[in-house]
Amino acid sequence: MLSSNGSPLILAPSTLALLAAVLGACVGSFLQVVAFRLPRQESLIHPGSHCPHCGTPLAWFENVPVLGWLWLGGRCRYCRHSISPRYLLVELLCAGLWVAMLFAQPAGLGQAPASWMLVAAGWLLVSWLIPLVLVDLDALWLPEPLCRWGLVVGLACTALIGFSQGEVVGRALLFQHLLAAGLGLLAFEGTSALAERLLGRPALGLGDAKLAALLGAWLGPTGLGLTVALAIGGGAVVGGLARLVGRLGPQQPFPFGPFLACGGVLVWIGGHGLWLQLLGWPGP
Ligand SMILES: [Zn+2]
Repeated sequence: MLSSNGSPLILAPSTLALLAAVLGACVGSFLQVVAFRLPRQESLIHPGSHCPHCGTPLAWFENVPVLGWLWLGGRCRYCRHSISPRYLLVELLCAGLWVAMLFAQPAGLGQAPASWMLVAAGWLLVSWLIPLVLVDLDALWLPEPLCRWGLVVGLACTALIGFSQGEVVGRALLFQHLLAAGLGLLAFEGTSALAERLLGRPALGLGDAKLAALLGAWLGPTGLGLTVALAIGGGAVVGGLARLVGRLGPQQPFPFGPFLACGGVLVWIGGHGLWLQLLGWPGP
């Protein structure tokens, strides 16, 4: 980053983290609009934010991420209908993830990727995954256009990061990440078809295959393998507990997308070495 007189402008880490948190909270606020309006095929811009209950437009200060919800005490100022704490939680989550991306150690992107490129790619990745997770939680559905464009953006980021380190690195990374996307799609579609034949009912949504392909495009083959391992582990624990305490019926489906997305973000932040070690896998 350069200041107006051309000298390097070095921001203190705390200032940078604060900036990332504020930007992340604003983006989180917008992503919830995307997650709410996209499945309803509504415009993302018009009308502006309004109370979902009485339709009253929100004043600018009520739209301020995190603070707006706290100031209103989680209730609409006009009709007093409660506003879901999810708005606050997602804004906080997005802020936290944007800060975490400053410290992330994504692997499988060449020997010397520019750190600002990794941070920007990380911000884009979490911002793409959050609406997918929210829609999957609400409707057990991963919108196909979001998955498809997320895959394209992932490959574009891989190419930018790769080719910035030379043509050989760029070609190799693009090939590996394309391969991972294809393998992710085929493996999940194959597993889904097999499970359906064995169980006699759909067991894995086809959206999960598209999300796996998206994550393959961003994380490459090793990263996708680790992501799927973490997602299966997390899904087994959470699904098992939910069935144990009666929150989920024995045959009731639950969304797997959030587990894949969480796995992908954890692998992006922690890098490969950490997760290979934690999962007890031999290193590459
Ligand atoms: Zn209202």
